[in-house]
Amino acid sequence: MALKLCSIASGSSGNCIYVGTDKVNLLVDSGISRKKVEIGLNDINIDPNTIDGILITHEHSDHIKGIGVFARKYKKPIYTTRKTWNATLNYSALGKMPDDLFVEIFPNEDFVIKDMMIHPFKSFHDAIDPVCYTFRSEDKKISVATDLGCYDEYIIDNLHGSNVLFIEANHDVRLLEVGKYPYFLKKRILSDVGHLSNEKSGELISTLYDEALSHVILGHLSKENNFPELAYESVKTVLSNCSHINCNDLNLSVASRNSNSELVVV
Ligand SMILES: [Zn+2]
Ligand SMILES: [Zn+2]
Repeated sequence: MALKLCSIASGSSGNCIYVGTDKVNLLVDSGISRKKVEIGLNDINIDPNTIDGILITHEHSDHIKGIGVFARKYKKPIYTTRKTWNATLNYSALGKMPDDLFVEIFPNEDFVIKDMMIHPFKSFHDAIDPVCYTFRSEDKKISVATDLGCYDEYIIDNLHGSNVLFIEANHDVRLLEVGKYPYFLKKRILSDVGHLSNEKSGELISTLYDEALSHVILGHLSKENNFPELAYESVKTVLSNCSHINCNDLNLSVASRNSNSELVVV
């Protein structure tokens, strides 16, 4: 049974990632319009009616702003923590959220949807109760980890052994420092509860690297403080300097802000 991942949109302006097997179809976040989700799914031959659930990472608008319209049309279960659900309900632009669609999950407690084992774990990001997710089916593992802020042994333990790593490379520190963001925002992004820089992302990937890891997709790039070539080259430079990593064996790519990434199948 193959595990599949396709990023439909990734970045500070909206996030939505498809993860599935032949039997189950899931979305991680819905921070783009329903129409864009439908187009993205259609491009990989997934009927939105066959989505089994939407997993929310946290309540920031770039992760939830499309979920109201999608949930009302397709009536799919929404998996998240109770705190994140309550915070999501406070986001007025969502409109009325059907309460019966909410399925409570708990960080560090696995749950199963059909043939997929899902493991939510906490991140340091500055939201009410943020989680990242790993997905397992048979002996394969895919991890989706954006909005990390920083990482520690706990994060490393959770991401370890992944075959596919979808990971944040949010900003270039120098671009951010000289850019036009106000000081408080620069400070927030650079802090341990903000976002991972390209360099930190490269360091985390190098820590996680083992022979199981075949695909790394960099995501959640800042529109103002990064660009795809820079994220790619910065991470590649970090990895190339690690003697234990054979970059030729690693498929490294950058998720697009507004269109599908390649469909990765492992
Ligand atoms: Zn966030
Ligand atoms: Zn975000």
